[in-house]
Amino acid sequence: MKFIPYARQSISKEDIEEVSKVLRDDFLTQGPLIPKFEELISSRVNARYSTAVNSATSALQIACQVLKLEENDWLWTSPNTFAASANCALHCKAKVDFIDIDKKTYNISVAKLRTKLIEAKVENKLPKILIAVHYAGQSCKMKEIKELSLEFNFRIIEDASHALGGKYLNDPVGCCKYSDITIFSFHPVKIITTGEGGVAVTNNSDLDKEMKLLRSHGISRDKNDLPQHSDKEIWNYAQIKLGYNFRLPDINCALGINQISRLDEFLTKRHQIARTYDLAFKNLQIREPWQDANCYSSFHLYPIRIIENPSKINRNFIFKELKKRNIGVNIHYIPVYRHPIYEKIGFKSGYCEEAESFFREVITLPIFPGLTEEQQSYVIESIFKIFQK
Ligand SMILES: *Cc1c(COP(=O)(O)O)cnc(C)c1O
Repeated sequence: MKFIPYARQSISKEDIEEVSKVLRDDFLTQGPLIPKFEELISSRVNARYSTAVNSATSALQIACQVLKLEENDWLWTSPNTFAASANCALHCKAKVDFIDIDKKTYNISVAKLRTKLIEAKVENKLPKILIAVHYAGQSCKMKEIKELSLEFNFRIIEDASHALGGKYLNDPVGCCKYSDITIFSFHPVKIITTGEGGVAVTNNSDLDKEMKLLRSHGISRDKNDLPQHSDKEIWNYAQIKLGYNFRLPDINCALGINQISRLDEFLTKRHQIARTYDLAFKNLQIREPWQDANCYSSFHLYPIRIIENPSKINRNFIFKELKKRNIGVNIHYIPVYRHPIYEKIGFKSGYCEEAESFFREVITLPIFPGLTEEQQSYVIESIFKIFQK
């Protein structure tokens, strides 16, 4: 069998045509497709404003900055995530801490969050920002988290890099009912792609305006932002903040615009694949990803957990055997604080028990819209064969 990756983009003829059109057009970047893409994203996720950027990492950076994360502030997040969800704190010179995950959802544990907030209040170390990560595409318990934010006075960013198209309590993930800002990723392994890309959505026009400034050097063309000057000078723009070049080119937006028209098709396919795995593994010593009735997951990942079994087949063995069979299984995630740069800050192995036991037992299986029935059967048969060994 040819190599099967754990994730990959799905590119149609139409995607290619739309990108080619931009190449013949006037604007490769800073053109009309940026606001068009942004409008499609906002209306899909039901948020008022959206700022497209060149990655979700950039989106996290500007989101933290506009929420005024500064030196000596605390940012809290999940350890079961990609490092970018925590790195943004370090880039702002803030301090970072991690809340252990829930046994069932693998998202931040609300009970542990509450306990830690009570302790932090006593020590005067409450976080300024919490980043809630919707692991594998299933939303965190945002209602409870929002209530805690009102009680303990912190801001919320949803890292929905996995969760475009997902729902929570019948609202689309990204509606920002329970958060200040939600960010999404359009990396090729994610739900839709722009090559590289990301977006920050919000219902707050001030936050949005500032994120748009930071995306493009902090330069404004708004008359109200231009300094007073003599008639001899012409000021058509002014730099009023220290920003970045985090812009998403029109070439990439063209791909995003067509990809979003395919989003429902992608989600249906991901759910079909998940259902097929669920049924197949029913009688194996495997824990399938538990689904919360309040959520509709976008199934960015299909994580299985290898639990203790009579035949003593462990995760590492299964992982290696699947690799041998050309199946691109993966581990999501190494707890962020275990990475050497976080160990240098002082984090020790064992800090979040549940995240660590998950890390030792998880394998993420291939799931993406183009995964064929034949490929999926091969993955399933391979797992059965390993268990029969
Ligand atoms: C992919 C991912 C990111 C980073 O996305 P980029 O677009 O590659 O910068 C951040 N957080 C999570 C949870 C991710 O999965």
